[in-house]
Amino acid sequence: MIQLYIPLNFLGVIYREIKQALADIERMFSLLDQNQEVVDKPGAPALQVQGARIEFRQVGFAYDKRREVIRNLSFDVPAGHTVAVVGHSGAGKSTLSRLLYRFYDVTSGAILIDGQDIREVSQSSLRSSIGIVPQDTVLFNDTIAYNIAYGRPSASREEVEQAARAAHIHDFVLTLPDGYDTRVGERGLKLSGGEKQRVAIARTILKNPSILIFDEATSALDSRSERAIQQELNALSRNRTTLIVAHRLSTIVHAHRILVMGQGELIEQGTHRELLEKNGEYARMWAIQLHSQQEKDTYGNQMA
Ligand code: ATP
Repeated sequence: MIQLYIPLNFLGVIYREIKQALADIERMFSLLDQNQEVVDKPGAPALQVQGARIEFRQVGFAYDKRREVIRNLSFDVPAGHTVAVVGHSGAGKSTLSRLLYRFYDVTSGAILIDGQDIREVSQSSLRSSIGIVPQDTVLFNDTIAYNIAYGRPSASREEVEQAARAAHIHDFVLTLPDGYDTRVGERGLKLSGGEKQRVAIARTILKNPSILIFDEATSALDSRSERAIQQELNALSRNRTTLIVAHRLSTIVHAHRILVMGQGELIEQGTHRELLEKNGEYARMWAIQLHSQQEKDTYGNQMA
């Protein structure tokens, strides 16, 4: 029996290893190469970034021809400004960030950065100008140093530590068994949602992009972590053109402009104050969130 058990057990280990390796490769592809149809035009020049003004010009988009997800959407983000996109689940908010990163090409209209249509420039130059802090950061099965340096693989250990300090994750890393050489990811240490977001922020600090996309996590972090992450993001977005896909309105009160989306269309836009005065959809969403926050505070206090 034991003679049979050992090889079977061994096969099980190999199977798990292969499965994990495939999962990593799959993730790499989903990160780097989401859509084979997006290709560079022959001899496409590099994107020339000045202030990084973004313009969505009458953009339409469908993942599947039969269903348009974005319809005739126009807005601009002036150089260095922060624009937040809000709206109910499925309205098309994350799709906007995927289109800007050119995971997909628009079906109609155009997206321009400093006046250049993003389909006319090389993807590598476009993507090196954009940093994404996604909802759920993928950690590779490697060291924490590798995971941070992924933003700029040529970065020295000192630069990695500097970025980690700025993202307020350095002290945490020092508490890990092997510091920056601790293995993380599926087969290593599992990090919390907030810690993973900090790794993503450190990656982006190293990358130093002109444009920042922040896709806020749907699942809320605890309010202390959220406030801290918010401060780090505010610092990161200073002087960078920033697009925030927001789920919690409290995090975007200070955005230069807020776009409210409903079913692929822009239904309102303005500053937080302007939108509250309008007393429309945004004001309604704000009242609902305020109410649920008050309830949470009341019940939270009673529980404590
Ligand atoms: P949430 O707040 O839930 O993250 P969202 O506003 O960001 O939602 P999107 O993720 O942009 O919404 O999705 C917009 C619409 O496109 C949804 O109806 C969704 O089902 C659809 N969709 C998203 N990704 C794909 C995909 N890869 N293939 C087909 N349809 C998709």
